[in-house]
Amino acid sequence: MFDLAKYTKELWKLFESSRNILLISHVNPDGDAIGSQLALYHYLTHKGKKTGMISPNHIQEFLKWMNGSDKINVFIKNRKSCIKLIKEADLIVMIDFNQSNRLGEAEKYVMSSGAEKVIIDHHRDPFNIAGLIISDSDLCSTAELIYELVTEMNGEPFINRSYSEAIYVGIITDTGNFEYGTYTGDTLRIIADIIDSGIEKDKILNVVYNNFSAERMRLQGFALSKRMTVLPEYRTAYIYLTKKDLAEYSHMKGDTEGFVNLPLSIKDINFSALFIEKDNFVKLSFRSKGNFPVNEFASSYFAGGGHVNASGGEYYDTLENTISYFLTVLKENEGKLNNQL
Ligand code: 5GP
Ligand code: MN
Repeated sequence: MFDLAKYTKELWKLFESSRNILLISHVNPDGDAIGSQLALYHYLTHKGKKTGMISPNHIQEFLKWMNGSDKINVFIKNRKSCIKLIKEADLIVMIDFNQSNRLGEAEKYVMSSGAEKVIIDHHRDPFNIAGLIISDSDLCSTAELIYELVTEMNGEPFINRSYSEAIYVGIITDTGNFEYGTYTGDTLRIIADIIDSGIEKDKILNVVYNNFSAERMRLQGFALSKRMTVLPEYRTAYIYLTKKDLAEYSHMKGDTEGFVNLPLSIKDINFSALFIEKDNFVKLSFRSKGNFPVNEFASSYFAGGGHVNASGGEYYDTLENTISYFLTVLKENEGKLNNQL
């Protein structure tokens, strides 16, 4: 059982005794990473705590409207000031990840720092890289965990517009606006309180979801019509995109986000994979409906991990070889794939 009161007490003790707090999110931060980071930032600054923020790399356009996002230092852009922030911190809070390699180029600086370290996260099997690990993998998002911790710390929900918006973004992006993920009645009660507090939810939904370029929409059409293979015998579908495909559609970072979910809308398809060709490896994303554990699939075959229904990994080979390896391991999982809820 996750002991919220105990973790909150330990966390607050660390906050109280720290003079320079640093909040750091993971590479390619998603809405939950940035939302969680900003929500905690707003609470801590309200409490008068000196708090800095780092993201290992760039923040996507659809998150930049959020209050405080301009105060997040991007490591690969401002290395010097980020290294200084890491050196000066006496408490480093790692948000929405649990393995040090998710820190990208900031990894060696964070890991060699003498600061107290905390993980606040909802992924399974955290690595032992922090003195305090606050991790609840039953929750749909780190933002929900931050909301619970802050509410407990504060004695009542913290009422603050920027904080509420940040929690809202974290929760909607990690559940695909309540389409998937392990959200519960409690999640929806949090959302109800946040909406009642007066955030402009329609405006936020519009910025978060209706923010694509025309080229991105065309790339999605191409991916579905020319690059998707359906394998009914495995209840599986996969999409691949080559470097050339991406260049032809003037690919921007984040454009392929969400593509991996699309094949799951096909009747009787329960497992979906997306292959993106990189310079010397292939980046993979996996999604499933039902009980096929894509995190186990990713960690067993593609040096990756994630959640039961959403995971990712990497494979250091050509795209062609990666796909043929994938087809071999699909065969090994034929029984499991055809035996789903
Ligand atoms: P996405 O497919 O959206 O990139 O990632 C889905 C989930 O899988 C995320 O929760 C992310 O944490 C996890 N994930 C994606 N790629 C990797 C990876 O290379 N290694 C690990 N351990 N997890 C990953
Ligand atoms: Mn998350």
